[in-house]
Amino acid sequence: MRLHEYQAKQLFRTYGIPVQRDAVIEHPEQIPGLSLRYPVVLKAQVLVGGRGKAGGIHLAQTPEEAVARARSILGMEIRGERVRKLLVAEAVRIERETYLAFTVDRSARRLVFLASGMGGVDIEELARTHPSEIHKLPIDPLEGFHPFQARQVARRMGFGGEQLVQFARIAHALYRLCVDLDAELVEINPLALAEGQLLAVDAKVVADDNARFRHPDLPEDEEATALERLARQHGLSYVELDGEIAIIGNGAGLVMSTLDMVAHFGGRPANFLDIGGGASSEAMRHAVDIVLRKPEVRTLFINIFGGITRCDDVARGIVAARPSVPTTIRLVGTNEEEGRRILEAAGMAAFRDPEEAARHAVALAGRS
Ligand code: GDP
Ligand code: MN
Repeated sequence: MRLHEYQAKQLFRTYGIPVQRDAVIEHPEQIPGLSLRYPVVLKAQVLVGGRGKAGGIHLAQTPEEAVARARSILGMEIRGERVRKLLVAEAVRIERETYLAFTVDRSARRLVFLASGMGGVDIEELARTHPSEIHKLPIDPLEGFHPFQARQVARRMGFGGEQLVQFARIAHALYRLCVDLDAELVEINPLALAEGQLLAVDAKVVADDNARFRHPDLPEDEEATALERLARQHGLSYVELDGEIAIIGNGAGLVMSTLDMVAHFGGRPANFLDIGGGASSEAMRHAVDIVLRKPEVRTLFINIFGGITRCDDVARGIVAARPSVPTTIRLVGTNEEEGRRILEAAGMAAFRDPEEAARHAVALAGRS
């Protein structure tokens, strides 16, 4: 999950990383009431990069100019994302733009420290055009990141004296934030030299969704839909698509192949939910409830291969949920007989063969 710049900068502040004084607004009329020094920079708060190039960042010399600019930025669309919030920050005179980041290097199975004397540019672009300008340092997970390593890189980037000390302090704070938050990426681009001080002019933080439960204070994931958030609260992974057939399965592989089978027989999945391994009947009940809340759903397809997940638990959950749409069930595995008995007692039946079941689900969707 990616945080907005203003949210990331709030984290930066708590870690002592210098940022500009700023305020977040949603209406242009709020600007005259802000106690900020002019000129200010207006920055669209959208979860995509390259806002500058896309026209989402503008300088304003006076409150009047800022109000006019805010009117044009708020509501505009940047790479498919509507601008609803604007960060208004005291502008700084930038002398130099550098780049600083920590990210997970999956192949090395550790964090890597990235820095460059050429900031402001997209790191992907920099990697293409000036690969030798990117300093890369893998971090030993047991040793951690040492201040001397930051100073070494700072020296290579041409920093000396007070700025070298500042750079090392900021790099270390960013590292601590990255580790504390279980982040996938923390990035400052540009880390700017302005009036002799280094400060984070931009801020990017990507939190690891799998570690979300360890960070209850994180803001809501604005990219997730309301139902996706509800599913997450129940510990279920749920994804929205745009067809008519709701799909529930246990295990990512089974769910993916269920989606493929449905598509193969000409159906369109509305969404899918993975109840995971060893799900309780309660989890199954929530799962049915969540996928059927999507108004476009016309039929439900539940595909369960019981291993540590028990068919009787699954059946009890389905019966308790009382699906409100025609439902196709495929059920095999642990406690299958008991599961079938529970379904039959409730007037439901289950397929054994997954393809037959998928074909049936697609036919139901076409009929209803
Ligand atoms: P991005 O385009 O989404 O990466 O947004 P940034 O926050 O990085 O801003 C893009 C560029 O706008 C920066 O690289 C700076 O060159 C410029 N910029 C942003 N804030 C300021 C500021 O306060 N003063 C000056 N002079 N330039 C700024
Ligand atoms: Mn940037």
